[in-house]
Amino acid sequence: MQAIRTLAEFVADERIIDWLRDQIGQNHRDSKRGASLVSKQSSLPMHCSTCTATKACCSSYVIVRFYEGLVIADQLKRTGRDSPELRAELRARAEAMEATPVREWFTPCLFLDERERCTVYDVRPTTCAQLYVYTPPELCNARSSQISSYTPRKEVAAANQVEEAFRERLSLRRKVGRRYLGVLPRMVLVALEAWDRTDFRDYLRQLPWPTDEAWAAAVSSPA
Ligand code: SF4
Ligand code: SF4
Repeated sequence: MQAIRTLAEFVADERIIDWLRDQIGQNHRDSKRGASLVSKQSSLPMHCSTCTATKACCSSYVIVRFYEGLVIADQLKRTGRDSPELRAELRARAEAMEATPVREWFTPCLFLDERERCTVYDVRPTTCAQLYVYTPPELCNARSSQISSYTPRKEVAAANQVEEAFRERLSLRRKVGRRYLGVLPRMVLVALEAWDRTDFRDYLRQLPWPTDEAWAAAVSSPA
């Protein structure tokens, strides 16, 4: 008989975190390569590579897939950063983000440190790593409509494929038509709260996961 395992034990035994870290790392590299190619072909400067401005991009509304939250949760666990205080902050951030229209949110990410560095950089969400702009950072900080950025179509499709494969590996296919995604602090919190549960599949399945249509409408709604 197979032992009943917690989410943490399951993802460690099945080497799911290692696999996800590889997939996320590959997506990061593909985004950088794709953005550089557009830069070269169109003679557009890659401002993110040399940006020393306040990271306006890290004050944006960030939607991630659950597996990306899980990998960040694993990193927080391994580096001793999980705590009741962190979870309370994640919860407060998640509730605030979910109650705010996407275009109205402008608050520094809780993973951004005082030196404007991402503290989960290697496993940052693909949404973050896919952003490369070809316009000066001042426009990012002014939240200008003139910002020109890389369009990561292939990389988004690849990340969605990883989500499908991830749900397959975790046997999380019951919610047909819904995606396991949400705002960054919620996805990390859900992963931390599921971490030591042996009923993690039932816990995850009963959460109010959105449909693709619901997220598309939320993201495109005018502020
Ligand atoms: S998106 Fe804008 S603010 Fe963020 S690193 Fe790039 S240039 Fe700087
Ligand atoms: S996870 Fe990192 S890169 Fe993404 S918004 Fe937060 S600080 Fe910025």
